[in-house]
Amino acid sequence: MPEINGERVLADLRALKALAPYESGVHRPTLSPEHVASLKWLETELRAIGHEAKIDGIANVFGISKVTGPKLLGGSHLESQNHAGWLDGPLGVVYALEAARAVKADPTFANCGVDVVACCDEEGHYGFFLGSRSAVGEVDDALIDGAVDRTSGIPMRDALAAAGLAGVPRHVIDPKRYVGFLEAHIEQGDWLEAHDLKIGVVTSIVGIRQYVITTEGVQNHAGTTRMAIRKDAGVAAARIAVAISDQFPALAGERTVWTMGRITLEPGAPAVIPGRAELVLQMRDADNAVLDRLEGKVREIVAEADKSGPCRAGIKQTRRTEPAAMAPHFMDAVRGAAEADVPGRHVDMPSGAGHDAMVFSRHMPSGMLFVPSIGGISHHWTENTSDADIVMGARVYIDAVARLLGA
Ligand SMILES: [Zn+2]
Repeated sequence: MPEINGERVLADLRALKALAPYESGVHRPTLSPEHVASLKWLETELRAIGHEAKIDGIANVFGISKVTGPKLLGGSHLESQNHAGWLDGPLGVVYALEAARAVKADPTFANCGVDVVACCDEEGHYGFFLGSRSAVGEVDDALIDGAVDRTSGIPMRDALAAAGLAGVPRHVIDPKRYVGFLEAHIEQGDWLEAHDLKIGVVTSIVGIRQYVITTEGVQNHAGTTRMAIRKDAGVAAARIAVAISDQFPALAGERTVWTMGRITLEPGAPAVIPGRAELVLQMRDADNAVLDRLEGKVREIVAEADKSGPCRAGIKQTRRTEPAAMAPHFMDAVRGAAEADVPGRHVDMPSGAGHDAMVFSRHMPSGMLFVPSIGGISHHWTENTSDADIVMGARVYIDAVARLLGA
């Protein structure tokens, strides 16, 4: 089996962290100078192992090996959420980079290669998986023309130009070149840690459905309007929220999650009865049948609220992502590698978060593995994984790569 250098994996991750430090994590939003520095760092490392390396027109980094035999695509992303953790993304990129080095150094695998990709904007500062979707040919230029940074409002075109990428062509992969795509990631939850497990073999990436529920009442004076004649849109929205929390559990699966992450009242003043309210509901599950059931239930709750009054209520779906199944032979490879390194301490599990593997899985066999997150914390600068687990994950990753390349 090709051999990884655990110290080098840790050193690479620390080098990336040092390019964008924030507390014990990083601040590396998409196309920030710190993000661009990390792309150039990767490009340099890829050239050092003889890969053809480039940063393309949407700031994806590709490292392409020159061998003629079986090739695997590995990677993840380099940007972070604002003021967030150092491993969300870079872990998968550094594992793929180290796998590319290890495969190259092993004479048994002389004919095999690992291509490396860092997909731009997995964290969604500008859009929705724009980098990986561009890499598989799902993004047209108009989508980039319309993309703006959700924090700064800066157009993506301006940010790409500032990074020196104006007019640079985008690279679209040929899925036939690869045995498939393998992404490693921190778990970002506490399932592995809580069960004293070391590796999550990802079976699927959950589907996401999102809705805006709107209630319409009558805006009026909070001091002079009698309670009996009020049409308070805020109260109507709150009732719907409570009905969802009360009625979903009986219909949900074991790992279904739902969140009402935003509620807005108009005009949102202490002395004014809300005339209108908006409630955003998001739900996730790996099984469309479960999501269908919950969607049916929320539509029923809203229709009932609309019928019984005194406010009108409506619902509109604003997002739908299909669950993505990982390829069974990729799961076998990860499971076999985990069993060899950490016998009995791996588990099959769905991913509750979206990942680039979800996009690649639409075009070629794909797989994912998780390593434990300390305390289950992610999207926060305290996110961490022990050095021992980082190195263990890299060993499992390269073993899985070796099984998939089959030299
Ligand atoms: Zn990530």
